[in-house]
Amino acid sequence: MRIKLRGKYYSLNMLSKADMKTETQKSCACLKDSDIPKGLCDAPNKEEKKISIRKRQSLKSEFETILHESLHACNWEWDECAVDETAHDISKLLFKFYSIERK
Ligand SMILES: [Zn+2]
Repeated sequence: MRIKLRGKYYSLNMLSKADMKTETQKSCACLKDSDIPKGLCDAPNKEEKKISIRKRQSLKSEFETILHESLHACNWEWDECAVDETAHDISKLLFKFYSIERK
């Protein structure tokens, strides 16, 4: 899926664990609870930019991961801690007020 974030186009892909492992070797990974990242985001100045999201996460985890990687794309200068904390807090807030489901 092609998405636009702050005027830049990214290809957003849902990947298997095996494919995420391969992608991790090529870009900056957001490691959390395992050596296989939940998400990856290419630098905004890269050609053919990608955001990769690991398949088979819980709905909340997948939602937070997409938000997390989108925040990296929009605020590349933020450190991992700022991105992680912001994604977690906003995700929690939105889940409190809305029923969110996959399309
Ligand atoms: Zn991250």
